[in-house]
Amino acid sequence: MNADTQQRILDAVDAGFEAQLATTRDFVAIPSTRGAEGPCQDMMGDLLRARGYEVDDWHVNVDELRDLRGFGPIEHDFSKARTVVGTYRPQTSGGKSLILQGHCDVVPAGPLELWDTPPFAPVIKDGKMYGRGACDMKSGTIGALYALDAIKAAGLRPTARIHFQSVIEEESTGVGALSTLQRGYRADACFIPEPTGGKMVRSQVGVIWFRLRVKGHPTHVAFAGSGANAIMAAYHLIQALQKLEIEWNERAKSDRHFKTLNHPINFNPGIIKGGDWASSVPAWCDVDCRIAVLPGWSIADHQKEILACVAAAARNHRFLANNPPEVEWSGFLSEGYELTNAAAPEAAFGKAFNAVYGGAVEDLVFTALTDTRFYGLNHGIPSLCFGPSGGEIHGFNEYVDLESLKKSTKAMALFIAEWCGVEKG
Ligand SMILES: [Zn+2]
Repeated sequence: MNADTQQRILDAVDAGFEAQLATTRDFVAIPSTRGAEGPCQDMMGDLLRARGYEVDDWHVNVDELRDLRGFGPIEHDFSKARTVVGTYRPQTSGGKSLILQGHCDVVPAGPLELWDTPPFAPVIKDGKMYGRGACDMKSGTIGALYALDAIKAAGLRPTARIHFQSVIEEESTGVGALSTLQRGYRADACFIPEPTGGKMVRSQVGVIWFRLRVKGHPTHVAFAGSGANAIMAAYHLIQALQKLEIEWNERAKSDRHFKTLNHPINFNPGIIKGGDWASSVPAWCDVDCRIAVLPGWSIADHQKEILACVAAAARNHRFLANNPPEVEWSGFLSEGYELTNAAAPEAAFGKAFNAVYGGAVEDLVFTALTDTRFYGLNHGIPSLCFGPSGGEIHGFNEYVDLESLKKSTKAMALFIAEWCGVEKG
């Protein structure tokens, strides 16, 4: 790509940025928590059709995904689950094909009174856009769409097939991304603009979700000694799992990337429900948990370790020893992923990055997961993850930094042009 072409694409991103922000704001305004992603997928389908992409919009059939690598159990109503893919087919084939992917699901906003402004009424203030999903990762997804727009506005068209994929379930199982692979979408590389703070994800954790189902023996609290408190018993198990977390962090010291981090494996009891009455000893307690694993760690082996840890703790407990808790797998069963065999797309992205940011892109060792794993692990498709900066993802007052969004959109546009090739449109 010559300097003039490059400059035209960069200028087109600048010229389209106001429109990009308006679309981002509309997209963030949709409260697309798990199971409620439909209106987001409708909007995405419309955006893609308006731009002339061939749109495939289908209902996901879980039964077709169950046996695929990385599938995680779905527990909620999945009858409305959809995936939307817009495909661009080149008139002349020159470069390499590409999957651009974003997830439109967002995590719950939490107590609304803790937000300064409502989570689904995005506002722009001091160079930031605030809203649930503004950072993770709706701004990145819309950025990819406008990166493609900028190439067109610069009077160019890509010379390779591009699939623009809007998926769901990234925050709980990843089966949205899995559904695109089941449907047959493939490319020479995949690019996911998650908010990585302008770094390239080199290695990322995997995640296991599980639920502890703990029983107790209910009595009037006046005779608590004769009962067994399920909430306190659950706490006993949580403490045992915290020890497992320490053990796994020790193990992480032999990983070539994660050894640089202090505490890469995080165990989180994320939801707790239990008991029915303040003056009754609780007869039940459910705790939904998340723990990370590293690339190369077998999910099945680590599931066994979780079961063994819970069983051993139960044996040391007066009531649980004879009333063992159950463990249910409640979502993610995801391996870690390390970006390897990606020299070609990394070289193309390196040029794009240098043109926008100057210098070489830094690696990120990521203690969260992304959908890249499905492309890399299941099909050997090198899968890059790079995007803007922001903060408070999964927290209150989530925001994306708009200057970083503009830069990452430019880098994406140049990368697409470099990887797919361009010709006069
Ligand atoms: Zn995300």
